[in-house]
Amino acid sequence: MAAILKGAPVAAALHEKTAAEAAALRETGIVPTLAILRVGARNDDLSYERGATKRCREVGIDVQSVALPADVDSETFFAALDGLNRDPAVHGILLLRPLPKQLDEEKARRLLRPQKDVDGCTDGSLAGVFTDTALGFPPCTAQAAMEMLRYYHVPLRGRRAVVIGRSLVVGRPVALLLLHADATVTVCHSRTPDVAAVAREADILIAASGRMESIGAAYLREGQTVIDVGIGWNEAKQKLCGDVDFAAAEPIVDAITPVPGGVGSVTTAVLCRHVVEAAQRAARG
Ligand code: NAP
Repeated sequence: MAAILKGAPVAAALHEKTAAEAAALRETGIVPTLAILRVGARNDDLSYERGATKRCREVGIDVQSVALPADVDSETFFAALDGLNRDPAVHGILLLRPLPKQLDEEKARRLLRPQKDVDGCTDGSLAGVFTDTALGFPPCTAQAAMEMLRYYHVPLRGRRAVVIGRSLVVGRPVALLLLHADATVTVCHSRTPDVAAVAREADILIAASGRMESIGAAYLREGQTVIDVGIGWNEAKQKLCGDVDFAAAEPIVDAITPVPGGVGSVTTAVLCRHVVEAAQRAARG
């Protein structure tokens, strides 16, 4: 029977710290502020925006929602982004993506100031992840996986970590964050032969392949901690599932994050932390 590493207490601990730091900033006259830039009204964007707004307000972060119509022209969109970049009262910018086809997403990523890139999507943020410097912020999901490991005191130094997935949002940044924590890291991807054999070598296994419930018993052994970053809707089971086959994994491994209620529930807490950190950095100048 594995220990179930739930996200809720991790998120609560992060929120407590964020709320205290947001209050301290407010006492000095700085109101930590997140701008959410949304184009159109896709349901998943709206629900993410609602969740992030609620969480931010609970911890003392102001939220400015900037909603543009789905058919907004490039000039108007980039003017809005530029305005938020320049506004000293805005500390973090969350750009809801994907953008509609008429808008150049690469250009948006290039324009967004890394100092305000609280979701870690710019090259500046990713360079900061690479060099382990505070140039921007790590992507929230990758950071959330690390916060789970930290909160549950999973030792990393000198241990074998295997990351399944190499996307810029999850796999690659989480691999670098593990490396900075002195783990010995292997990254698997769709061209890796015998991923199961590599995964069995892991002390810490990070599942981020985007292939629902594909990581089963053959990938696992006793003693492992499994962080399941995956999240997808299983039509047959009519429920959210991770990339790990939880029912197969739970009797084998030492510890595992559930889906839902695991890494996903920590991501917004990380976003809030990043906004407050951005405000603190701006105040330091
Ligand atoms: P992605 O962009 O689709 O990347 C998937 C990665 O997995 C790619 O690097 C791919 O390799 C690799 N891969 C695919 N099949 C594989 C296989 N059979 N064996 C080994 N590697 C394989 O997905 P993503 O955006 O990184 O997201 C990963 C998961 O995290 C998804 O389930 C997503 O829904 C979830 N997610 C969760 C959150 C959250 O808040 N919890 C946020 C973002 C994403 P190649 O590079 O060779 O194609």
